[in-house]
Amino acid sequence: MVLGDLRVQALKRAGGGWSYTIVWPDGRVDEEADAFLRTHEGSGTQKTYAYHLVDHLRWRVREKQTTATVSLRDLHRYMGAVGAKVPMPWGQPWRVPPKRPYGASALEVAAACLIAFYVHVYSVGGVNDELKAALTVGRLPTQADRDRLLLGHVTTSLPANPLTRRGQGHRRRHPKMLPDQARPELLDVVNTARDAMAVTWLSDTSMRIGGLTGLHLVDLHLRENAACGDCPSPHLHVCHRWGNPNRAAAKIKPDWTVVDGVVTGGEIHRVSPAMISSYFTYMTTEYAVYAAGGHGMLLIQLAGPCKGEPWSADAARGMLRRAGRRADLPGRITPKAFRHQFTNDVLDASGGNPMVAKAAGNWASAKMVDEVYGHPDLHSPEFESALRATWGEE
Ligand SMILES: [Zn+2]
Repeated sequence: MVLGDLRVQALKRAGGGWSYTIVWPDGRVDEEADAFLRTHEGSGTQKTYAYHLVDHLRWRVREKQTTATVSLRDLHRYMGAVGAKVPMPWGQPWRVPPKRPYGASALEVAAACLIAFYVHVYSVGGVNDELKAALTVGRLPTQADRDRLLLGHVTTSLPANPLTRRGQGHRRRHPKMLPDQARPELLDVVNTARDAMAVTWLSDTSMRIGGLTGLHLVDLHLRENAACGDCPSPHLHVCHRWGNPNRAAAKIKPDWTVVDGVVTGGEIHRVSPAMISSYFTYMTTEYAVYAAGGHGMLLIQLAGPCKGEPWSADAARGMLRRAGRRADLPGRITPKAFRHQFTNDVLDASGGNPMVAKAAGNWASAKMVDEVYGHPDLHSPEFESALRATWGEE
């Protein structure tokens, strides 16, 4: 946020909870924004819309536009400025510090917010009938501009229909789990392909942060029928190594070994198509540019004096925490919440089948309870289908 700019203000409500409005630098409430936001009083939408609207109103100030003068073309240009594909120049980025383009989910919400705002304002104020008529029947461009998205290294996985969940805010179903929509919202705000990859990999597996940051390139078996023979589907091996330069260590330490240069054993996690896609984006860009020779580790630092050296678990935790704040998600985003969420989702998708939940946890820990429950099948139709549902593949 820039000092002296329009900003969102949270106000404690008499009945508990918060309400959100928009104020000018002199502390004056923006009447139009306030009247509109009041129509969403008490819902998570109010906060979401307040932050989208303040972005738009700041832009409008810079464009010297008002509610009475703004045109449909201006709104299309605005959507272009925040990342939508529009057939016109969208002008200079105005947001400070420079922010990355919105992803598909944020674009949908921004469009819904603008339409609702202007239709509301024009209904009350009776000005700009032309734009009101256009917005009532039409829609705004929300298709993310792939070219710009790729330049900014973003998201590999988008929710099928973010608007169906609109209005639920970011309710956390369980304190141990992630807030609703955490994954797409984090992917919208992360700044690097590495960070998008970390979010995706934590979302789609039950890996711990030490396991993730301790991965070596040789631990990844991303093609079908890897030489290790441990698992015919794309997977990775979390192997405990004492000498990792970033001191990341897998907490569970099942035996692993290298046979003819191929890693076998360790803790095996299935790999989703979104994980593979985020991996290629990262490897062909940031890793290709910055990786220092020798250490062989997957995740590297992208800035500072140790650029190219392994990325630490603490640095990864900090990235998640800061991204959670930028995305305005409630509470602190921790790696552990991803684990709980993933296990919960797989269990949900399997109809509560404990064998499937154990398989989702990982192969090795499942082995430990073999004697009680038998060995879960990592390729049973039930597990396959629960995984695909959790990964959003069906
Ligand atoms: Zn393998």
